[in-house]
Amino acid sequence: MNKSEQVQTYLKQQSELFGRELFFKDLKSFRNSFNGHTEIKESANKISQLYKSISIHKKESLGGSSNQFVFGAGDPNADLMLIGEAPGEEEDIKGEPFVGRSGKLLNRILAAIDMNRNDGVFITNVLKSRPPNNRDPLTSEIKEWEPYLISEIKIIKPRLIVALGKVSGNTLLKKDISLKKMRENIHNYFDTPLKVTYHPAALLRNPSLKKDAWQDFQWIRDFLKG
Ligand code: URA
Repeated sequence: MNKSEQVQTYLKQQSELFGRELFFKDLKSFRNSFNGHTEIKESANKISQLYKSISIHKKESLGGSSNQFVFGAGDPNADLMLIGEAPGEEEDIKGEPFVGRSGKLLNRILAAIDMNRNDGVFITNVLKSRPPNNRDPLTSEIKEWEPYLISEIKIIKPRLIVALGKVSGNTLLKKDISLKKMRENIHNYFDTPLKVTYHPAALLRNPSLKKDAWQDFQWIRDFLKG
């Protein structure tokens, strides 16, 4: 079946099921039903090439308490890109972002807005290797890693970027302002809307912040539905 026949068959099935109304989760998923396979494959290839080249050219970033690179993970064709600060101990062991306590909370938050980390979501960090003893990233480390973060964004082309926590928000916005202030607006990063919200670790430390975080994630859900 060629593409136009596929579209016609799809629309016929939809009208048999739902009458004259068409239901799409979002326009991107509609487009992906027909040409997404090539697109997905392309971004998957590009992102794995990027990570391969980091592994080859940035070996010196490993060492100390950092055993391996922790690259982004999830859907290479995601609408939503979540950006944390840096891998922690568990992430360093498993080689995947947000797999520790913060990650488990993040999974629950995503489930509450009917999303999951492997479908429509891509999760990465500003730094791709664990800072010694979990200290905050240095300005020099942020500067060193930022070009790779920009490449990831250009490959994934999300509809919305969500910075998790102050370090991630300040890195993207190139400002030193409080998380409270950053939450007040929707920002722009390389022509992509950027929302800043609490890091899940902050929610674990201070559960009273969960109410505001929940508001943010409801906004994120509604934005992506729009
Ligand atoms: N905190 C982060 O910022 N990133 C992770 O991957 C895990 C914890």
